[in-house]
Amino acid sequence: MGSAVLTEQCPYAGKCGACHIGEKSYEQELKEKKKWVVSHIGKYCNKIHDVAGMYYPYYYRNKVQAVFGRKKDTVVAGTYAEGTHTIIPVNGCLIEDVQASAIIQTVTQLIQSFKLWIYNEDTGRGLMRHILVRKGAATKQIMVVLVTATVEFPHKNHFIAALTERHPEITTIIQNINIKQTSMVLGERNKILYGQGYIEDVLLGLCFRISPGSFYQVNSAQTQVLYKKVIQAAALTGSETVIDAYCGIGTIGMCMHAKAGHVIGIELNEQAVKDARENAKRNHLKKIQFVAADATEYMTQMSQNGMRADVIVLDPPRSGSTEEFVRAAASLKPRCIIYVSCNPETLGRDLEWFRRKGYLAEEAWIVDMFSFTEHVESVIMMQLVEK
Ligand code: SAH
Repeated sequence: MGSAVLTEQCPYAGKCGACHIGEKSYEQELKEKKKWVVSHIGKYCNKIHDVAGMYYPYYYRNKVQAVFGRKKDTVVAGTYAEGTHTIIPVNGCLIEDVQASAIIQTVTQLIQSFKLWIYNEDTGRGLMRHILVRKGAATKQIMVVLVTATVEFPHKNHFIAALTERHPEITTIIQNINIKQTSMVLGERNKILYGQGYIEDVLLGLCFRISPGSFYQVNSAQTQVLYKKVIQAAALTGSETVIDAYCGIGTIGMCMHAKAGHVIGIELNEQAVKDARENAKRNHLKKIQFVAADATEYMTQMSQNGMRADVIVLDPPRSGSTEEFVRAAASLKPRCIIYVSCNPETLGRDLEWFRRKGYLAEEAWIVDMFSFTEHVESVIMMQLVEK
């Protein structure tokens, strides 16, 4: 941290709405984030640590996406101004990976010189919709996903050749076809145009394959801080059955594997489950399995089958978990439940459900993964308190 953090000036501050850079110091932001978390979970947990902030809160996003549009005759890439469909062209965002930003600019220029159509949201016609760039922070592998509205991609081979010539650091390029009139960036179909179709990254010494549609934390350095807290909170001894619910590509469960007896990962997204299974093989982890299922349904089934678990980790999306999940989790009688949350509001609601089942929040850690934004990540350790 330190005072250097305010020296960077963003030309889009107050315009693009994606972050609040320049409005307050980073130190102040961290204090406010803690207050916000405390306001939602303070009544459930006495011991809430200060936020673990980033050393340098810039250029951290390993995943960068932009929408294509036109300003007069020029192709631009950027973001929608908050609450509108007006595109703010962005070149050089201060929280996004620098190489990813440069690649997006090049793709924008190539679209212009190859005279490719830009997709028009109103008419549903045109070709190029979005771009998504992902980078493995440790491996430096880079994935470019070009989201198109049609399968046809005129001059595709020349386009790819021109892009990889200007950016030899790109390791894979994927065409994602999104034919729907939707605000979702990615469609269901992927075509590999170059390279292997995925990138890899390393977290806590383990290697992970990441496909275009799989969730992967956007701040790799802080993700490792977060996962270490989860491992610490679990205090495993080597024999425990651990459930990693909402596991994505299996990162948390795999980082706990060395100290666990057996790990079960549950994840809804099938592409992510494929990645997770492949990742277990890649790291020679034998005591882990993954199920492609809705976490609530699978937990309920486990509960009905009379199964037990020692430690349950859950890391649901912003909408949080469900009351049925909490009921099923409690009936597996784990000694400890660790909740990783990206939304203090749903976290507070869910902690109340856990409390009613006898699981009390003992300790909470907050990790800032998203400087200058209104997002913050928390880890809550709950234990069963017998009445
Ligand atoms: N623990 C992982 C992923 C967390 S993001 C990590 O740290 O990277 C939340 C994940 O929950 C996503 O991968 C999403 O696909 C998955 N998900 C969303 N709804 C789900 C549900 N109902 N059941 C199981 N998984 C779900």
